[in-house]
Amino acid sequence: MVKDLTTDVLVIGAGPAGSMTAKWAAKSGARVVMIEKRQEIGSPVRCGEGMSKEWLKEVGVTPSSRWINVEVEGARIFSPSEKVLEINEKHAGNEVGYVVERDGFDKQLAIDAGNAGVDVMLKTAATGIVRENGRIVGVTAKAFGEPFTIRAAVTIGADGFESQVGRWAGLPTNLQLRDMDSCLQYRMTNVDCDVRYCDFYLGKVAPGGYVWVFPKGDGLANVGIGVQLSQIKSPAEARTYLDAWIAKHPAYAKGKKIDMVGGGVSICAPIKQTVTDGFMLVGDAARMIDPLTGGGIANGCIAGKICGEVAAKAVHAGDASKEFLQAYEKGWRVRLEEKLYRNWLAKEKLCSLSDETFDKVVDALEGVKLEKLTVHNILKAVHTKYPEVTREFEAFL
Ligand SMILES: Cc1cc2nc3c(=O)[nH]c(=O)nc-3n(C[C@H](O)[C@H](O)[C@H](O)COP(=O)(O)OP(=O)(O)OC[C@H]3O[C@@H](n4cnc5c(N)ncnc54)[C@H](O)[C@@H]3O)c2cc1C
Repeated sequence: MVKDLTTDVLVIGAGPAGSMTAKWAAKSGARVVMIEKRQEIGSPVRCGEGMSKEWLKEVGVTPSSRWINVEVEGARIFSPSEKVLEINEKHAGNEVGYVVERDGFDKQLAIDAGNAGVDVMLKTAATGIVRENGRIVGVTAKAFGEPFTIRAAVTIGADGFESQVGRWAGLPTNLQLRDMDSCLQYRMTNVDCDVRYCDFYLGKVAPGGYVWVFPKGDGLANVGIGVQLSQIKSPAEARTYLDAWIAKHPAYAKGKKIDMVGGGVSICAPIKQTVTDGFMLVGDAARMIDPLTGGGIANGCIAGKICGEVAAKAVHAGDASKEFLQAYEKGWRVRLEEKLYRNWLAKEKLCSLSDETFDKVVDALEGVKLEKLTVHNILKAVHTKYPEVTREFEAFL
């Protein structure tokens, strides 16, 4: 029989956002319990495994060969007729910098959390929210199938894209079909890809999304696709698109599939509220994925640090009211919201472009040295060569 527990901070989910939140709450002096419904942290992997790197220092993570496969120089964007735009790593977005072993990375973050004093409970799933006088005071849970209750001064939902905890807490996390990409990825061996780049193929090859090739070295690569759910008949259609793309590319058609993963990512604008009395939401559960790239590891970790620190402050102040927890709401928005919103607008526009326009945009940018890769600078460059194309983008300017 599992005994009921009481702690300062309860984190639900041991993905990157959860482990990072738990670590920083513990480092800031709180007693922390983190529960994870799976028996192994980081596995099975559902990820392209690409991530930028400049944020790692900010959240206290030291890059390690234990989880880095390849360090890339940048990204290559392929237009529908396969004109190529190269972008250096610094400007290439949330998914470009390292290609990692995601299970190793997630385990490293959980190790860091454990070393900071966090109690980790595996095979333990939250099953419902406990409320008292309208405020959240913990969850009901099952450990190895046995029900029990965890009470906490602050409860944090870090339960990923399929989050139920956010919904139970009454936060506005619902998504429309147009706000989601269905993703499918093969890990392929015996492919010819350039380990210097993460590659992205745009246009009707992947309606509302893109095909990616992230190199893992030694002829191994993650070859995947994200397709906007509102543009396909069923999530399974992502496979049809990916298989068609692979068949057309001899460097990959000759490859062997050794692994396959599917899943969803949110591509919505930032949600309106991520805290309520006694409760905060972080990472994919809080829809913090970059809507343009689909990358969520960096944002989840950056917000996780802020969330953990605020949780510990709330514990020390004896005040976990919604008003007190606004420090987190404000903190993550100052750090991430403008870029999330800007990238959402850019994604909305890109989803509506014809293949012909995509080709013109990439063609106009080929060989142009942009100091900063902003939407404004891109449009200026495109305007020089194809003024008729930028008319479609006037709203942005
Ligand atoms: C196919 C695919 C490819 C992707 N590629 C990339 C990429 O290349 N780069 C990138 O940056 N991002 C990528 N992403 C997105 C990235 O995987 C997520 O943004 C990231 O995992 C978010 O971390 P998180 O901690 O918020 O959630 P998760 O990593 O999903 O962790 C949530 C955890 O909560 C646990 N959990 C859920 N419910 C409960 C419960 N009731 N009780 C206890 N535990 C629970 C889950 O088991 C899980 O371990 C990809 C996503 C997909 C689907």
